[in-house]
Amino acid sequence: MHVESQVEKLQKQVGKAAWHFRCPECGQEWRMGGDVPLLVLAAEHQRWMRRLDGEPRSTEELVERGCPVEIARLFEHEHDVTTFVDVKSGQPFMDREAGGIL
Ligand SMILES: [Zn+2]
Repeated sequence: MHVESQVEKLQKQVGKAAWHFRCPECGQEWRMGGDVPLLVLAAEHQRWMRRLDGEPRSTEELVERGCPVEIARLFEHEHDVTTFVDVKSGQPFMDREAGGIL
C-alpha cells in the first residue's frame, strides 16, 4: 500500500505530462507523456493543411513533418481521435468547442 502511494505521489509530480485516455467507441486506452492534446491538435491541422483533394496526410507524412510517431499513429485508429476522453475525468480529451482553434 505504501509503495503504491509513493508511486502515485511520484506520478503526480510528473503528472502534468502524463495522459491516460480512451476511445469512447471501442474502449481502447492509451497512456502517453507530453503535451498530447496540443500535439494531436497540431497533427490534425497538419493532416488537412492544403489538402484540397480531401485526403488526409498519412502517418509517414506526419512524422516527416516532425509529428511524434506515437501521436501520428493515433490517427491510424479506426475512430476519431478528437472524440477520445480522459479516463480519470471522463471529460473530452480535446474539447474543440472550448478550444475554438479549429
Ligand atoms: Zn476506437
